[in-house]
Amino acid sequence: MTSQSGRHFLQIPGPTNVPDQVLRAIAAPTIDHRGPEFAAFTTELLADLGPVFGATGPVVIFPGSGTGAWEAALVNTLSTGDRVLHVETGHFATLWQQMATALGLYVDFVPGDWRHGADPDAVAEHLAADTAHTIKAVCVVHNETSTGVTSRVSEIRRAMDATGHPALLLVDTISSLGSIDYRHDEWGVDVTVAGSQKGLMLPPGLSFNAVSEKALAASRTAGLRRSYWDWQPVIEANKRGYFPCTPATNLLYGLAEALRMLRAEGLPAVFARHDRHAAATRTAVRGWGLELLCADEREYSSSLTAVLMPEGDDADKVREVILDRFDMSLGAGLGKLAGRVFRIGHLGHFNALTLAGTLAGVQMGLQLAGVRIDPNGLTAALDILRDE
Ligand SMILES: *Cc1c(COP(=O)(O)O)cnc(C)c1O
Repeated sequence: MTSQSGRHFLQIPGPTNVPDQVLRAIAAPTIDHRGPEFAAFTTELLADLGPVFGATGPVVIFPGSGTGAWEAALVNTLSTGDRVLHVETGHFATLWQQMATALGLYVDFVPGDWRHGADPDAVAEHLAADTAHTIKAVCVVHNETSTGVTSRVSEIRRAMDATGHPALLLVDTISSLGSIDYRHDEWGVDVTVAGSQKGLMLPPGLSFNAVSEKALAASRTAGLRRSYWDWQPVIEANKRGYFPCTPATNLLYGLAEALRMLRAEGLPAVFARHDRHAAATRTAVRGWGLELLCADEREYSSSLTAVLMPEGDDADKVREVILDRFDMSLGAGLGKLAGRVFRIGHLGHFNALTLAGTLAGVQMGLQLAGVRIDPNGLTAALDILRDE
């Protein structure tokens, strides 16, 4: 590849662009993770972390990717042979239920068309039919990163409660936390799964589980084998400001800085910013005469937009042209959407002009790739960004 001047546009829906302040924080010298300075740092960090989840209980941090946080959520709350309900919202929901099966759980996989979120009524119907309460957990991906569809978690919780079924609710917020409104306690979520490299504006490498009291109680009898992913030693060590094994010290420095940035802007303002940028992106897509993959306006994702290609046009060719000519990375279609969609990430460290540059690159790339579009898409989006 030839060298390019200027900054690379990393507009995949994670990993996202890491702010300079966060990079500088990460560059500080690594300290003794068993020393007093580290204990003081961790104690403050953990206190600052809960509010991003809307959680007052423990948030367990592991060095790992989001996939590790999926595993931690399952192995700490469930036992071999338990039934779990997953909903087929897209590629990530499909991978999570495959993991559940591999771990020895029986999965009821509610089929979906990859254009809608998890349907609260369908979840309630399945639970209502399970009068023996053999389903121990409902697993939902809040923001399905493969499709740009956000499930209505609070409605799912309410529908679950209405059935009186005691199943736990486990929610993947890997591409929504810190970008899209989310409330662990208020919505009655039992385990919230998250990762560092999307809305939290960090490099990959940290995984999180926010844990409810009910989930903590379940962990005391959950029989799935676990060692590295066991919550208990982490929660115990955290009480004194430490971790049972070596933490990702420098990523934790970055996390402290990212949390400071989110607090300074204010979470409501952060969410509103993502909503505006998502709306402007959808305006551009519609202006180009292209179709959004998300089919329900109540479920539009504010962190990414998946664009469906016209029949006969190849989304990967568009991405290739854009990378080659404009040094911008866009998300590929995953699983059965390969070649059919491309995904524009507009989350994390992002502002109006980053979006303007992103959409300009997409528009030029579509034209260069020979996709028939209306060039007014970009202008329509700029009108929204100007007037916001
Ligand atoms: C990125 C992502 C994952 C996978 O996380 P890794 O860090 O790649 O393991 C899982 N679920 C969702 C919704 C994601 O966006």
